[in-house]
Order: sequence, then structure tokens, then C-alpha cells
Amino acid sequence: MSLREQLCEYGRRAVELGLVIGTSGNLSVREGDLVAVTPSGVALDRLTPEICPVVDVEGYLVEGDLQPSSETPMHLAVYAATDARAIVHTHSVFGTIVATTMTELPPVHYNALLLGGVVKVAEYATYGTPELAANVRAAMEGKKAALMANHGGVTVGATLEEAFEATRLLEWLCEVYVRGLSVGKPAILTNEQLNAVIERALNPPAFPRRL
Ligand SMILES: [Zn+2]
Repeated sequence: MSLREQLCEYGRRAVELGLVIGTSGNLSVREGDLVAVTPSGVALDRLTPEICPVVDVEGYLVEGDLQPSSETPMHLAVYAATDARAIVHTHSVFGTIVATTMTELPPVHYNALLLGGVVKVAEYATYGTPELAANVRAAMEGKKAALMANHGGVTVGATLEEAFEATRLLEWLCEVYVRGLSVGKPAILTNEQLNAVIERALNPPAFPRRL
């Protein structure tokens, strides 16, 4: 699948799963110095490969008649600072709730380790600005996900599929935490408990084979 075809496929899935509504949210995928990104002002389930713009890593438009997503500077800032090859940004409900009420998502489930543990909320700045791009880049450092204050979430991956799955996981973790708060006080995993999970994952016990 070409980069632009991938944007159409995952854009459609993002709408289907309710991670975005209307024209909110944007995706990009990088190959070399080129980044295919979703266009501004088009719902993610209405994309076709030819309308998806391609920019270079410096932000110059290389292909396409439509303007790239307004959040392209944030995507480019993350690409410049990491080895990410794909980025997904949505305004998903539970991610946005956490991003409007907290400064970080505490690890209440060990799967948070797949995103780098605690997910930080990047400081608020107006959408599309270099300030927001810098804040997100700082919050993402060493992690695969960040939340954006009063805005939404962003995840990275080595492929668009990986970045998309990270977005689904981020939303699931936020939902568990937010719904958990309505039942009681969610217990937060300690560093010791998280380290034990890493240890277990690195050294899985082998089942003895019956001879
Ligand atoms: Zn946004």
C-alpha cells in the first residue's frame, strides 16, 4: 500500500472507531525526507490518495493541490526529534477528558509501558502553532504517546499501523482511568511493579515440553 493509500485506510478506521469526528484529527507517514499527510478540511473517511498532500521534512509542499493539515508543523517537529515513521493525532473522547483535567495519565495498567509508562500532557498552545509543536515534542521525549492540554492525543510508530494501534491503546488507557474514577480511586502501579513487568517481558518463562 502506498503512503497515501495508508492514510485513506487508517483515516477511515479512525472515523469508524469514533476516534475522530468531522474534519478533526490528522495522520502522517514518512519515507525518507518525504511525509504524506492528511489534507486540511477533509473528513478522514472521505480521503482519496490523490488529494493527500506530500511535504518534505522542512515543510515545503511537494505534491497535492490541497493544503496539508494545520497540525503538520507538530508532525514535522516530532519527526525531527525522533525516529518515528508515522504519527496519529485525534480528539478522542477519553484522551481529551484526561488532557483537559490532568497533567499526566498515571499508569494504572501495565500496558501503559507499551507507550513508555506515564503519558505526559503537553502544555496548552493554539493549534497549528510552533509553540504547540515544541510542547508536544517535549512531552513525547522517550515515549510513544502524549496528550495535548485541552485538545487531544498524539502517538507515533515505526509504521502507520503501529501509530494507530498506539492511539487505540492510549484511548483505552484513558477510558479505563476515567471510568475507574467514577467507581473509586484507581490504584497507580509503582515503579517496582512496572519494573517487574519489564523483567517478566524480557525473560518469559518457557513451558516445559512433555516428552
Ligand atoms: Zn487537533
